[in-house]
Amino acid sequence: MKVASTHNELASVLRRIDHRGYKAYQDIRGQYRFPGFDLHVDHVQADPFAPPSRFRVRVPQNVAGFPDWSLATPTRRVALSDFLTRRFSALAAALSRGRGQGAAGTGKSGRISMARPGQEILARNSVLVDANVVEARFTVGLPAAGRTILGSAAEDLICGAVPRLVREALVFASLSATEAASLERHIKTAEDADALRAALPGLGIVAFVANGAILPRRSGVDERPLDRGNVVPFASPPSLEVEVTLPNRGAVRGMGIPRGVTLIVGGGYHGKSTLLRAIERGVYNHIPGDGRELVVTSPLAVKIRAEDGRAVTEDDISFFITNLPFGADTRHFSTENASGSTSQAANIVEAIEAGAKVLLVDEDTSATNFMIRDRRMQALVAKDREPITPFIDRVRSLAEDGISTVLVLGGSGDYLDVADTVIMMDEYRPVDVTARAREVAARFPTGRRFEGGDERLRVARRVPVSLGFARVGDRRSTKTKARGTDAIVLGHEEIDLRNVEQVVDPGQTRFIADALRYLEARLLDGKAAIPELIERLGREVAAHGMDVVAPYIHGDYCLARPIEIAAALNRLRTIEVRAAR
Ligand code: ADP
Ligand code: MG
Repeated sequence: MKVASTHNELASVLRRIDHRGYKAYQDIRGQYRFPGFDLHVDHVQADPFAPPSRFRVRVPQNVAGFPDWSLATPTRRVALSDFLTRRFSALAAALSRGRGQGAAGTGKSGRISMARPGQEILARNSVLVDANVVEARFTVGLPAAGRTILGSAAEDLICGAVPRLVREALVFASLSATEAASLERHIKTAEDADALRAALPGLGIVAFVANGAILPRRSGVDERPLDRGNVVPFASPPSLEVEVTLPNRGAVRGMGIPRGVTLIVGGGYHGKSTLLRAIERGVYNHIPGDGRELVVTSPLAVKIRAEDGRAVTEDDISFFITNLPFGADTRHFSTENASGSTSQAANIVEAIEAGAKVLLVDEDTSATNFMIRDRRMQALVAKDREPITPFIDRVRSLAEDGISTVLVLGGSGDYLDVADTVIMMDEYRPVDVTARAREVAARFPTGRRFEGGDERLRVARRVPVSLGFARVGDRRSTKTKARGTDAIVLGHEEIDLRNVEQVVDPGQTRFIADALRYLEARLLDGKAAIPELIERLGREVAAHGMDVVAPYIHGDYCLARPIEIAAALNRLRTIEVRAAR
C-alpha cells in the first residue's frame, strides 16, 4: 500500500507542476498528512470547466473534539453532520467570495464548495461523524489561467485555505460560545422533533402542529418563513389540543390531527393549503428558526395528487377504477399517459404498497371526477357507465384498514358525511367545526348513493424483472444524473419527479438515482416484489451508509424515504414488472 505523503510533499508537487498543462494536476491524486487531519484528493478534474475536483478531509476526534453528548445517538449525529455541513459550506462560500470572481483564474478556479442544505435537517454524506473521526467532503476548483496550472494559487488554496476551513468549521473548540449554543439548539431541535414523531401513534394522531408555529413560506420557491405582513402564528382549537412532553423543550401544546378522515375546510385564501403543506413537510425535521420545528407528521404520510401524463406499470387500480371503455384491465393497469383520475388512483395504490398510512390530499391538485360524483351526476350517468368509484366512497374503507386521510376541501360538502374530524381555517386560525358539520350534514342530506360496496383495497404483488434502462454495451445507459429536485436521469431515461412533492433536497434526487441503479445491478432478482427490494436497499443503507449506492466517493447525498424511492421507481417508463397473479 502506498504510504501517505505529507502536505510538504503536496506543496512541492504543486510547485513542480506550476505553469504546466492542466493534465499535470492528475499528479496530486492521493492522500496527504496535514497537521491535525488527513487530506484525500479522490478525483482531479480534467479541465477548469469540468465538474470540480473531489476532496475529503478526515479529522480525528482528538483534534475535532466534538463532545460525547453531540455524538450519543443517531439523531444527534445526523443533526451534528447537518450543522457542520451548513457551517463548512457557508465558510467556504465566504472564502470563495473573498477571493473575488475571476481573480482566482478560469472556470471554477479557486472555489471550494459543499452541498448547501435548505430548511430541513437531513441525513447527509457531506459530513460523516462518529466517535473517532469527522470526515468532510467538498469540491475544489483547481486554479488555472486558461489550461495553464496556477501552482502557487493552488498551494494557497489547498495548503492554506483548506486547513483554515478545517480549523474553523470542523473543530469544536473554534466555535464561539454563541456558535456552540446554536449547535446545541440544532441538535436539541432535531431530537425534540424525532421524539414528537415517535409519540404520535401513542396519542392516536397522525400529525402535530404546535401552537406558535409559523406555517406560511415566503414564496412558492422560497421555503424560508414568511416574514412580511401580518403572519398569524398557529393556535390549536381547544378541542383538538394535545400536550406532549419533549426531552429538551419539556411540555408543548398544539393541534393533534386524529387518525381517520380529517377535512380541512374554509374559504379560499384562509390558509388551508398552507396548513396541509406544513403537514406534508412534517415528515422532515426543520432547522431552528424555520417556524415548523414542532410541526411533525407520521413518517408514513404521503402527499397524493393527480399527475396526468405519468406512466403506470401493472398497477391494480380496480379499487377505484373498473370497466374502462375497450375493456382495459384495471387489475393490471399500464399506460404511458395516465389521466388525472387514473394517475391519482395509481398514486394512492403505489403509496400504500410502499407502506403509506396517511394520505394528504388537496382539492387544488386533485382530479374532481376522482374525488366526487354527486347526486345529480349519479342520476344522469348510471353507475355502470362510470368506471370511477370516487374517493368519497373509498375513504372510509381505507380508514378501516388503518389508512388515514387528511383532505383539504372548499368545494364539496358531500364529504361531511364521511369525515371523523372537520377543521375550518378562518383567517389562518383553525376552528374545530366537527359538531357543526354533523348538524349541517343531517339538515341537508345530499341524497347521493354510496357506490363503494364493502370492497377492500388489494395491493397487487409486483415483481420487477428489469428496470430496463441499462443496455448491454452502452456505458452511457448506466450513468445517473439529477436535475435539482425535478427529475432524475438514468442513462437515456428521465423520471419526472416534479409531482412527487415530498422530495425537498437535490441530494435526495441524487441518492434516489444511484439507489435505483444499485437496485437494478445488485438487488433485483426477479423474485422480490417492489416493497421487498426497497426494504433490502434500506437495510444496506442502514448498515453501510448511503455511500453503498455511490459509484465513487462524494458528498452530495441526502437520505430519501422508501416512499420516495418507490415513487421514482414507479415512474420509470422502462420498468418491466411481472404481476404475481
Ligand atoms: P387556501 O388554500 O385556503 O386558499 P392558502 O393556504 O393558499 O389558502 O393561503 C393563502 C395565502 O395566505 C398564502 O399567500 C399564504 O402564504 C398566506 N398565509 C397562509 N397562512 C398564513 C398565516 N398563518 N399568516 C399569514 N399569512 C398566511
Ligand atoms: Mg388552497
